[in-house]
Amino acid sequence: MILILEADLGEEDPRFRQLMAHLQALAGIQSRVHREQGSQQLLTEIYLVGDTQRLAEADMQTLPGVERVVRISREYRMLGRHQNDQRATGFDYNGVHFGQDGLQVFAGLCAVDTPEHVEQMLRALRDNGQLCTRMGAYKPRTSPYAFQGHGKACLPWVFDLAGRYGIRVVAMEILHESHVDEIREALHATGHPTGVMLQIGTRNTQNFELLKAVGRQQEFPVLLKRGFGITLEESLNAAEYLASEGNTRVIFGLRGMKTNLGDPHRNFVDFAQVPVVKRLTRMPVCIDPSHSVGSRDATPDGIMDIFHVTAQGVVAGANMILVDFHPDPATALVDGPQALRLRELPWFLEDIRLARETYERRRQLAAEQLGQPSIPVGAGPV
Ligand code: PEP
Ligand code: MN
Repeated sequence: MILILEADLGEEDPRFRQLMAHLQALAGIQSRVHREQGSQQLLTEIYLVGDTQRLAEADMQTLPGVERVVRISREYRMLGRHQNDQRATGFDYNGVHFGQDGLQVFAGLCAVDTPEHVEQMLRALRDNGQLCTRMGAYKPRTSPYAFQGHGKACLPWVFDLAGRYGIRVVAMEILHESHVDEIREALHATGHPTGVMLQIGTRNTQNFELLKAVGRQQEFPVLLKRGFGITLEESLNAAEYLASEGNTRVIFGLRGMKTNLGDPHRNFVDFAQVPVVKRLTRMPVCIDPSHSVGSRDATPDGIMDIFHVTAQGVVAGANMILVDFHPDPATALVDGPQALRLRELPWFLEDIRLARETYERRRQLAAEQLGQPSIPVGAGPV
């Protein structure tokens, strides 16, 4: 059961103290307080676990400071969408909003290589009004002899450059708990010129100790990629690991499934599940067309498959796009064949705009058909 408290009800408020005293006296019930400071207000939720069946919603509703009560099902307790669950989705991080109503684009390098390439990428992003990017410093590679990423050494100059070009959030995969400390230290040493969204890759979706460690920190939001060889349910439970440890700022990433049934795509594109994840959970949903498709192949009309699947995901309501670009794909150290070129960035963004417009009109049409007020859509910088 979740008790949603009145906005801005702080720890010092006598009603909060009274409420906590009441909850602590309930036998067999443990409570965990979760606070989220948004740009407008402080939101407090209290998660009650244990023998909550015997608690009557109507009684809980009358407790001091309680605005609403949500009875949760067993699945995805913290990130799930429960019965009568009207809670807002998403969060703000470093001035950027992430939610099930918005759309953010993270175009960037699969792997950081040279400062020149990073700077060219960032300049193109700034010139196209972008606030976010992807930059891989730690790379999980199939072969131990392949380039493993520049790691910690590149962080200070990558963050510095990101700040210089107005980038507010850098998505960066981490493979080990120690990488989070290295990122935190590099951000601190450079004076926090930008923010970081930690990425947990498809190969680590069920690395439970890593999930727990990343869930225990609340400084950085997390992009969790779906595991490429496990069920959706298993991957959603992986996201729940992050939340159960305290970090609910989680975005769920679809990136294709490993099976030759998707050939000739690198992975079987699974963006048909964007609506499924939005229905089952309150997480914003990311799509990664680059790692799904894996090539620059195009249809006879000249549109690349990467563009097609991106549009399909966006028309279905995707909230974030993680996509590989490179100023000189022939020299990229990782995943050059699937990288889009910098001159293709305005085209890609315009294609996304068209798809997003279609999604917004589809939403409006659905609201009209169902006789509901049309829900305002969240803005995005595309
Ligand atoms: C990546 O985004 O660079 C990556 C390795 O993705 P995935 O974990 O989905 O393979
Ligand atoms: Mn890659």
